Amino acid sequence: MTPSAPRLEIEHLTCAFDGQQVVRNVSLSVGAGDVLCLLGPSGCGKSTTLRAIAGVESPQSGKIRIDGTEVLGPTTFVPPEKRGVGLIFQDFALFPHLSVADNIAFGLKGTKAAKRDRVRELLDRVRMGRYIDAWPHELSGGEQQRVALARAVAPRPQVMLMDEPFSGLDNRLRDGIRDETLSVLKEEGTAVLLVTHEPEEAMRMADEIALMRRGDIVQMGAPYNIYNNPADRAAAAFFSDIN
Ligand code: ADP
Ligand code: MG
Repeated sequence: MTPSAPRLEIEHLTCAFDGQQVVRNVSLSVGAGDVLCLLGPSGCGKSTTLRAIAGVESPQSGKIRIDGTEVLGPTTFVPPEKRGVGLIFQDFALFPHLSVADNIAFGLKGTKAAKRDRVRELLDRVRMGRYIDAWPHELSGGEQQRVALARAVAPRPQVMLMDEPFSGLDNRLRDGIRDETLSVLKEEGTAVLLVTHEPEEAMRMADEIALMRRGDIVQMGAPYNIYNNPADRAAAAFFSDIN
């Protein structure tokens, strides 16, 4: 049996603004059901990398494949809505004029009954079943984030891109929602690229960490390998706040 291709593969991705390279020669891959954390300080190029994968940034060079299909290459540019990626950001902005159910059903294909089934299934999974007919403004921040998770997962994207999705939540809620998010995404078998500047979040959530600094990936490996064997002093210092 030949091993299946990783869900997400990036080769030699380079992005620049005004001639200044902010992402340099980044290569990585993520398998189905795996979480890769892109970890590094503010300004190191994490969001730009994510935006290039989503297709809303035009890189200088590099290749991106999703489920084995090239979506970016020397002569390829597949538009964002056709890449099969889901997005979750810090300001997860649900549509304020749509109910919880309609927020999740938005953009789903199929019969009305099939959509309703999928909405119910996902709302139950994020323990929000009784809010199916609620409006976004009636929900707390944590509840809105859970609906946003259900909405992002609903179309069954191959790849989920998450940019600091938990940083707006207060500490009390954060761990619970992190764990819940992981279990939903693992169950769906989605490949996850999670951007964060918080080492403990990466340690908690990642199967693999790519440590980024000033546009470069400086180290890649399993969380405890990186934690125990940081590549250099700066990497060690970055992890030193965790206890
Ligand atoms: P991170 O997400 O790691 O904080 P970003 O990817 O947002 O970093 O930014 C990387 C670098 O690129 C920063 O120096 C930032 O100022 C710069 N940058 C990001 N977006 C733009 C843009 N649209 N135009 C010019 N410079 C940008
Ligand atoms: Mg960012």
